[in-house]
Amino acid sequence: MSRRRRVYEGKAKILYEGPEPGTLVQHFKDDATAFNNAKHDRIEGKGVLNNRISEFIFVKLGDIGVPTHFIKRLNMREQLIREVEIVPVEVIVRNIAAGSISERLGIDEGTQLPRSIIEFTYKSDELNDPLVSEEHITAFGWASPQEIDEMMALALRINDFLTGLFMGIGIRLVDFKCEFGRVIENEMMRIVLADEISPDCCRLWDIETQDKMDKDRFRRDMGGLMEAYQEVARRLGILMENKPSERKGPVLVSTK
Ligand code: UDP
Repeated sequence: MSRRRRVYEGKAKILYEGPEPGTLVQHFKDDATAFNNAKHDRIEGKGVLNNRISEFIFVKLGDIGVPTHFIKRLNMREQLIREVEIVPVEVIVRNIAAGSISERLGIDEGTQLPRSIIEFTYKSDELNDPLVSEEHITAFGWASPQEIDEMMALALRINDFLTGLFMGIGIRLVDFKCEFGRVIENEMMRIVLADEISPDCCRLWDIETQDKMDKDRFRRDMGGLMEAYQEVARRLGILMENKPSERKGPVLVSTK
C-alpha cells in the first residue's frame, strides 16, 4: 500500500496529500486538547462524529453560497478538501457571553450580548492564540483589509445560518470559532471557509436544560462528551440510531 505524505499534523487533525494537485485529505483524530495542549486525552469515536458533523455543516453552508474548502467525505474519519493557504487568524463569533470574554470583561456566562460580536486571535500555540485587532492583522500582513471584510461578512452569515439550524433542534449557538483560507480561482484570490465546524469549536447549550453539548465538557471535566456530541449528531439527523431497524420490508439505504 502506498503511504500518503503527511503535510501537517495538528492537535485534532492530520492533513495528507490528496489524490489530485490542489487537494488534501483531512483526517479527524480522537485527540482532545485544551488550554493549549496542557490537557490532553483521547476520546474514542470523537473524530468520527466531528467528521460527520463538520461535513453536514459545510455542505449546508455550501448550499447557501458560502464558499468552503470541502469537496466530499471519503470515509468515517476523512474528507477530501481543497488545499488553501490558511489565514493565520481565528475568527470567533459570539452571541452569548461565555469562556474567555466572560473572564476578560467580567460578564456573567449566559448573558445575551447586545449584538453578535466578532473577535480575532492570532494562530500561535507558542503565544496561546492572543486576541488581536484589525490593526494588528493588517499591519503585520496576516490579511488585507478586504480579506478582513470578507471574513467578517462570511462569519456573520455562517452565524445567522447556524443559529437558526441549531435553534430548530433545541440548541443555542453561544459562540464558535472558524478559520479561512485563500484559494486561486479564475486567477483571482478568494477567501473560503476552511478547517472544521464541530462541537470542538462551538459552544452549544441545550435550550431547555442549558446542558453543555460541546468541548467545554472536556475542558471543565464534566464527562459525557461523546454522549453530548452524539446527541448533537442525532438531532441534526446524521447519526443512525444504534438500535436495529424494526422495519420489516426493504429499506432504502443511502450509499453516500
Ligand atoms: N475556540 C476554538 N479554538 C481555540 C479557541 C477557541 O475552537 O483555539 C472556540 C471555543 O470552542 C468557543 C469559542 O471559540 O466556542 C470561543 O472560545 P473562548 O475565546 O471563549 O476560549 P476558551 O474559553 O475556549 O479558551
